[in-house]
Amino acid sequence: MSEQMIPGIVPQKDGSYMISFELPNGACMTPEILETLAAISRQHNCLVHVTTAQKIMLLGMDFDQARDVLKRLEEAGLSVRKTRDLSQPRVCVGKPYCKLALQDTFSLAQYFYERLSRKPIAPKMKVAVAGCPACCSWANIIDVGFVGVKSGWKVFIGGHGGARPVLAEEMGKVTSHEEAAALLERIADLFTSEVKKKARLSHIIKRMGVDEFKRRVGL
Ligand code: SF4
Repeated sequence: MSEQMIPGIVPQKDGSYMISFELPNGACMTPEILETLAAISRQHNCLVHVTTAQKIMLLGMDFDQARDVLKRLEEAGLSVRKTRDLSQPRVCVGKPYCKLALQDTFSLAQYFYERLSRKPIAPKMKVAVAGCPACCSWANIIDVGFVGVKSGWKVFIGGHGGARPVLAEEMGKVTSHEEAAALLERIADLFTSEVKKKARLSHIIKRMGVDEFKRRVGL
């Protein structure tokens, strides 16, 4: 297997290599993970970056370092994304921590993570969970966002960032984790079946029309 072909080790523009690992809820940072990170960073002197997707990225390694780091992260039980899948949602702290929160974000995001994180997905569809309409996790500027309200979760669909950002539109409401995950799975399936090469959900919705999109995902 050549240097560029080990899944999880990503070549960078400057010739170095990068590895990122998931941190579900941006909150599962145990003392053991911190110790693993400290040992790796001390030994390999790599840059540790907290990404906007709430993952940990290790940068500035040569290939042999990256191979060693990948092995150690996996031995520590950490999840390095190796194929294109739904991965972890971006999430704010929610109940019971935030004084404005209307819903418990960690439990919904964890439910998504356990049920759907390894689901294959076309490039690219992102998910966020916010505990109230303030949307600190940008759940209203993302492909699929769940926004806590008193009686459940409003579902925002079709947003994205980038050079030409688009606000998501409120398209429905769910009241349980099961209902939310089932909807997310139907949207992911539709998205993957409709993408030719690379797209965002807003492109698919524009092409098929909002009514047809809603009909096909059961909204
Ligand atoms: S979105 Fe609401 S619940 Fe979440 S951190 Fe922001 S203010 Fe708190």
